[in-house]
Amino acid sequence: MMEEIQSKQERSRKFETEVIHSGYDALKHFGSLAPPIFQTSTFVFPDAQSGERRFAGEEEGYIYSRLQNPTVEMLEQRIAALEKAEKGLAFGSGMAAVSAVLMGMVKTGDHILCSEGVYGCTFGLLHFMQERFGVSHSFQSMDGEEQIRAAIRPETALIYVESPINPTMKLVDLKLVAEIAKEFGIPVVVDNTFSSPYLQRPLELGCDVVIHSATKYLCGHGDVIGGLAAGSKELMSHLSMTTQKDIGGVMSPFDAWLLLRGMKTLPVRMDRHCSNAAELAKQLRKHPRISKVLFPGDPEFAQYTLASRQMDGPGGLISFEICGTKEDAQRFMNALELIKIAVSLGDAETLIQHPATMTHAVVPPEDRAAMGISETLLRLSVGLEAWQDIWADIEQALNT
Ligand SMILES: *Cc1c(COP(=O)(O)O)cnc(C)c1O
Repeated sequence: MMEEIQSKQERSRKFETEVIHSGYDALKHFGSLAPPIFQTSTFVFPDAQSGERRFAGEEEGYIYSRLQNPTVEMLEQRIAALEKAEKGLAFGSGMAAVSAVLMGMVKTGDHILCSEGVYGCTFGLLHFMQERFGVSHSFQSMDGEEQIRAAIRPETALIYVESPINPTMKLVDLKLVAEIAKEFGIPVVVDNTFSSPYLQRPLELGCDVVIHSATKYLCGHGDVIGGLAAGSKELMSHLSMTTQKDIGGVMSPFDAWLLLRGMKTLPVRMDRHCSNAAELAKQLRKHPRISKVLFPGDPEFAQYTLASRQMDGPGGLISFEICGTKEDAQRFMNALELIKIAVSLGDAETLIQHPATMTHAVVPPEDRAAMGISETLLRLSVGLEAWQDIWADIEQALNT
């Protein structure tokens, strides 16, 4: 129920300012600099008629926290401001956001055209939707205009894209996909988790919906599981009244508060993630025991030009292959001291994982090979430590 009309000054504010101020007005909350946590399940109506009017949508006012909660709403307004969307929605996890968006936008008989790779649980959900609800999908590398056009079927109702794609860091040209999709009248949904809105804003490139696992860079501190979606008011309101409210994977007020807090430092953190990753990619490239480095900020990266055009920075993820076997890769991981072995990404701590046996273990080996995920490929989520210390750890582990 908060003011949706922004002043002209607010509309032209820069990202670094929006990420701190948007969605919250302290003077409307007793002057509290930090936003209050409305830790309540339900809201009291002043009288029976008011309750009737709120349910009928004739009166502004909160009803029940699964439908709307002031702290959660502050976060929804903030992500909308950052992604340049009309409206944002918050969910209990990234997957709750993905499933609410997908289920709310397609029906039985429809086809979803996906980028070459998608997050593992999204892959699982797509299979589930195919088996149980008759919604088909296909994966397609979207390297050129012809390829994208040829992959669109009469029943294609949605294009679902990740860029960069985990863990090979392959990019999809979002502007190109959006332009072609527009001709066919098909909405484009982008999982923007890897870049965060600080580095990539798909709606500005013509895409329709953005999804985030807020668990990652938006939170930044490894202490929340959460999801966000943003898009047009019409579509987000539809999702809010259907799959968000009725499936009910909503975010708790406390998690929304932690995210509002974490997101204030997103630009500063992201700058460090990017510069640390750029230094480490350079060092990795020079090391004789590293056979391949995949990093969008590396001038030798196959899609370096697209990365420079589409993203405002390379991000903090690097994948690399070490010489040898799977066992050598595991020995290397076990020799690390500072760097933690864990999935997830975007935290202050540098994390490393082995896609072939962890995040992509469920992908059949042939498919994994076709996607470029070898047994010696490792994915590093570069943290905020001094890059020299991260490199020293990698170097000592490579030498053991
Ligand atoms: C982690 C992740 C998800 C799932 O988010 P959860 O918050 O773990 O539910 C979806 N997409 C991408 C790209 C992710 O990295």
